[in-house]
Amino acid sequence: MNRRRFTLLLKAVLGGSALTLPSDARAADGNGERRRFIVIGAGLSGLAAARRLQSLGHEVLVLEGRDRIGGRTHTSLQWSDLPVDLGASWIHESKGNPLTPLAAELGAKLLTTRYDDSIGYHTDGSEWTAADERLLDELRDRVYEILEVEQDTGADQTLRQALKSLVGSGAPAETRRLVDFILSSEMETEYSGSADQLSTYWYDHADGYSGPDQLFADGFRVLVDHLSAGLNILTGKIVTAIDWSQPEVRVVTASGEYTAEGVLVTLPLGVLKTGGPVFTPPLSAAKRKAIANLGMGLLNKCYLRFPSAFWPDDVDWIEYIPATHGEWTEWVSFTKATGKPVLLGLLAADVAEKMETLSDREIVAGAMAVLRTIYGDAIPDPVEYQITRWNSDPFARGSYSFNAVNSTPAMRSALAAPLGGRLFFAGEATEKTLFASAHGAYLSGLRAADEMG
Ligand SMILES: Cc1cc2nc3c(=O)[nH]c(=O)nc-3n(C[C@H](O)[C@H](O)[C@H](O)COP(=O)(O)OP(=O)(O)OC[C@H]3O[C@@H](n4cnc5c(N)ncnc54)[C@H](O)[C@@H]3O)c2cc1C
Repeated sequence: MNRRRFTLLLKAVLGGSALTLPSDARAADGNGERRRFIVIGAGLSGLAAARRLQSLGHEVLVLEGRDRIGGRTHTSLQWSDLPVDLGASWIHESKGNPLTPLAAELGAKLLTTRYDDSIGYHTDGSEWTAADERLLDELRDRVYEILEVEQDTGADQTLRQALKSLVGSGAPAETRRLVDFILSSEMETEYSGSADQLSTYWYDHADGYSGPDQLFADGFRVLVDHLSAGLNILTGKIVTAIDWSQPEVRVVTASGEYTAEGVLVTLPLGVLKTGGPVFTPPLSAAKRKAIANLGMGLLNKCYLRFPSAFWPDDVDWIEYIPATHGEWTEWVSFTKATGKPVLLGLLAADVAEKMETLSDREIVAGAMAVLRTIYGDAIPDPVEYQITRWNSDPFARGSYSFNAVNSTPAMRSALAAPLGGRLFFAGEATEKTLFASAHGAYLSGLRAADEMG
């Protein structure tokens, strides 16, 4: 990569003093418009921003803490015949989604999955009847009705608090279990926050598009490869401090310091919440409040690969009403879309957090207990598995942001606002209505690049 033009303060790795490259090695604007920028983070937002800034003729250096790029998109190549995404998988509502034309531009093969192609099972493993589905639909309508009324009239409260008339202490155990299933399968898995934290006012303050969800047949990495082509990216550069007190912003990593006229921060909300780099001067009060109050949620994945499919091969989704809230409610079958005997179990919020304290063996055993309840004791163990732990990942500290009680959409705008004309912010959490998504991250990067360039 070409580092020449950056004022690289080769930090004192051995000798204690910093070396500033000679001025002729610094960015020379030439026409006076070419500016030097640093982008922190090589996820979709950082890559989109860097690509746009570079295309505008600016000089861009991307600093990435991990030894890989892509951030919360990460395609695993452990199974040579089936790349699987450990982070984002879907272009949600692909019609109108800005990632769809990008995928077309790079000739990516997309596979469609549909929520309607699903099958559901009770706690004892019996399949839902048409009458059961009607009952669930009625209860679902009731849940959304109550939430809508509470959105209009009540003070902000958690989803569970808002539903207390339905699932309070006097409610039948069966109703409580079914409402738990709805909360887990529809709210927690989608928004990644717990029903005990999601804001009734704002949990669904999100825009969408239309059409079916689509998977990249070769994984999200095809998009990451496309966006990163031709960019100057340094991996293994963990940013520990950002000094924006001077016109030249100084970015400190464990193995070097870098300066630029403008710096874009795309660090995940989870990283900002758990310390992250030291900012000098500190971030504005509005930003600190947004970081504290917005929620960082958790969605973990457990891919199980079997010798052959023992589940119906004409469905994309398998739903299960568990005895314990949230445990293995949502499964994706990859058989219809890819022809491969692979199931993906999704765990969100509290159960996803609990899962991170368990060994792989214990997690797979828990998943298999549910599958055996549904499909019988004779089904085989998986031949291979892949498991994520996004909360334990120091470069993510969670999966994606959600609107928690005591947060507002305005806080996302506060998180996105530039500081001092030289410190800029992007990333999914900075998106007011497209948060928690790959396309939101991508668009936030383009928005920040426009602010900078
Ligand atoms: C399990 C899971 C499933 C998901 N499913 C979907 C889906 O199906 N569809 C969808 O649209 N979205 C999905 N998402 C959300 C989507 O992946 C994210 O919104 C998006 O990838 C975030 O991009 P970003 O650029 O904002 O952040 P990131 O991708 O997190 O980029 C930030 C970068 O900063 C780096 N970094 C962190 N700390 C430092 C440091 N100190 N110094 C330097 N670099 C640092 C990180 O390594 C990372 O590369 C999913 C996410 C997860 C985790």
